[in-house]
Amino acid sequence: MPDDGGSDDPRLPEPEQPPSRAPERGREWLRHNRNLALGLGCVALCGVIAVALYSMVKSDRQRATSALTVVSSAPAPVTPAPVSPPSAPEVPLPLATDGEPLDYETDDGEPRERAPKSAPKHYTTVAQAAVESCTTASVDGLSRQIIAQARCIKPNQFVPLPSRPNLVIASQVFPYLELEAKNRLMKALDGKPKQKMTINSALRTVAQQYLVWRWSATKRCGVPLATPPGESNHEIGTALDIAEAGTWRPVLEAQQFKWLGPSDRVHFDYRGGGAAQNAGTDVMAFQKLWNRNHPDDKIAEDGRYSPAVEQRLKQSPPDGFALGASCTKAAPAKR
Ligand SMILES: [Zn+2]
Repeated sequence: MPDDGGSDDPRLPEPEQPPSRAPERGREWLRHNRNLALGLGCVALCGVIAVALYSMVKSDRQRATSALTVVSSAPAPVTPAPVSPPSAPEVPLPLATDGEPLDYETDDGEPRERAPKSAPKHYTTVAQAAVESCTTASVDGLSRQIIAQARCIKPNQFVPLPSRPNLVIASQVFPYLELEAKNRLMKALDGKPKQKMTINSALRTVAQQYLVWRWSATKRCGVPLATPPGESNHEIGTALDIAEAGTWRPVLEAQQFKWLGPSDRVHFDYRGGGAAQNAGTDVMAFQKLWNRNHPDDKIAEDGRYSPAVEQRLKQSPPDGFALGASCTKAAPAKR
């Protein structure tokens, strides 16, 4: 690094000048070019500072990257973040519920059977899964695509539930709620840190709701009564089924969750702000996925569960479409 004496400046005296006069000429040049010399000095100093700052930022970024693997809450990217499988929630595995069996819904709920421990059987269509399976896990792949696409459409519709020491989420559950419902649920949990809550159902996609609705219609899989697809509050991220409904009821009601009553004693609906206007996002997400994969058989993307939607849903692959969720407007061409 040259000092600011100007010894590298191209306007220095030529080599044939007598050496004895060079220092004097240098001082004279310095007097006439003080500003230039000061500028060179500043440039050198700034260079040193810039190098120091760069190394500090770089090490901070490395620390942040490693921290992200522990706390992951990045803002919505252009391409959808993969939806975590229901078998790997951010919360501890479910515990036994005080000797009682897990109490699933009575009117619009999951079947009482648990998802099989072995690898789930794969079906060709959703219609086949409805006839042959008894677990909503049979449409997991398609459901994850629907959730990811819905989060592109309305990022606050399905917000992941953060972990809490007193919160247990059953393994088959998609742990998402509408933003305000999620915030109120966290207030309820944090207000009773010693009280355990077991969630047996939260978000349910239109594909899952189709299954439980068919099971109720055909009296299969232990579902006596189910809400038709497109109409369940579980599809819009405002419904919760809680094993310990009795003990949590006053706490949840204070946070504007309404208990449905004895007909479905595990079910609560969030009735506060931000709930109703989001109906149909999961259906619209399915419509977009269908159209992306069937450019020659496009259907309306209006969020309404119509016979046309049901016909396509029945034909859809339970493991998901070839082209998954996309947050970009333009649909990619198929092949
Ligand atoms: Zn329910």
